[in-house]
Amino acid sequence: MREHHLRPSPISATVDFEADGIQHGFLRLPYSRDDSAWGSVMIPISVVKNGKGPTALLTGGNHGDEYEGPIALFDLARKLDAADVEGRVIIVPAMNYPAFQAQTRTSPIDKGNMNRSFPGKPDGTVTQKIADYFQRVLLPLADIVLDFHSGGKTLDFLPFCAAHVLPDKAQEERAFEFVRAFGAPYSMKMLEIDTVGMYDTAAEEMGKIFVTTELGGGGSATARTASIAKRGVVNVLKHAGILKGEVETASTRWLDMPSDDCFAFAEDEGLVEFLVDLGEAVARDAVIARVYPIGRTGVEPVEVRARMNGLLVARHNPGLIKPGDCCAVLAVEV
Ligand SMILES: [Zn+2]
Repeated sequence: MREHHLRPSPISATVDFEADGIQHGFLRLPYSRDDSAWGSVMIPISVVKNGKGPTALLTGGNHGDEYEGPIALFDLARKLDAADVEGRVIIVPAMNYPAFQAQTRTSPIDKGNMNRSFPGKPDGTVTQKIADYFQRVLLPLADIVLDFHSGGKTLDFLPFCAAHVLPDKAQEERAFEFVRAFGAPYSMKMLEIDTVGMYDTAAEEMGKIFVTTELGGGGSATARTASIAKRGVVNVLKHAGILKGEVETASTRWLDMPSDDCFAFAEDEGLVEFLVDLGEAVARDAVIARVYPIGRTGVEPVEVRARMNGLLVARHNPGLIKPGDCCAVLAVEV
C-alpha cells in the first residue's frame, strides 16, 4: 500500500474528529514565507458530531473562484446544532484556501489546481499537501462526500447536481439517489474531460458516495444559485439520515452527457457572441456561437457549431475567447 511509503501529513487539525458536539477550528498547514517565517495556512473547518451514524464530508472552494459552495457551507457551519445530528458532518467551505482568498481557480502559491492534484503529496507543494490530507485523513472518515463546484470566472452553468457513471453499479445508483435528493433544477449524469487527479475520482475509488454540483459561475453567485446550494446540502444530510426530517423535494430535469460530442472548444481567438442561452435547445450542426476576430473590422466571424442535439448546459464566460477554451457544453434531456 502506498500509505506505508509516505511520511505523515504536515497538516494538523485543531479539531477532534471523534469528539461529540460542535467544533470550529482549522487545518493548519505550515507555510514558511517572507511575511511569516514560521507561518501557516489556516483552512477553516467545522466538525459537528453526535453519537454513531454516517459521516458526510462537505466541501466548497476546491476551485477558489466558485462561490455557491462556500456560501452554503459557511452558512451551514454557523447554523448546525449537534443535537439535530445523528452521525458526523465535516465542513470545509474552502478546500483550496489560498486560491479562495485570492479569488482564483488555482492557488497563487504554487498554481496548484486542487482538482488535478489528487492523491497529493505530503512533501509536495501547498496544494499537493492539502490534497494528500483529504486523501489519507478526511476521505477515509467519510461515507458521503458532497463537493460543490460552479463555473468560476471562465464558465457559466445551468444549475445542476451531478454524479458519475461508475464501474460499481450499486455505488453509482446510491450516488444518483443523493443527486435526486439534492434537488437542483437539473440533475446530471456527468462526463469528465479528464478524470486524472480529481478529488471525485479519489473518493469514488475508495468506494465513497460522491456527488458534486455545477451551480452557476461567472465568478460570483446569485440569490437563486446560493439558495439551491443551501437547500441541497440540507437535503443531502437528510437523505443520509444525519439530519431528521423529510427531503424538501423539488422537480428536476435529468440530463446526460453521452459522449465527447458534448464539448465544443474554441479554435480561434476573439469576441464571442452566443446565439443560444443556457437551457435552450440546439440542433446538431446549428451555430452555438460566433467568434469575431478583434484586430480589424470587415472580417467574417468563425462559427462554433453543435456536434449533437442537446441543451446548452455551460458556456464560456466572459466576452473574449481563446483557442482551446471550452466554448459550450451540451447535454441531452433523458
Ligand atoms: Zn470547480
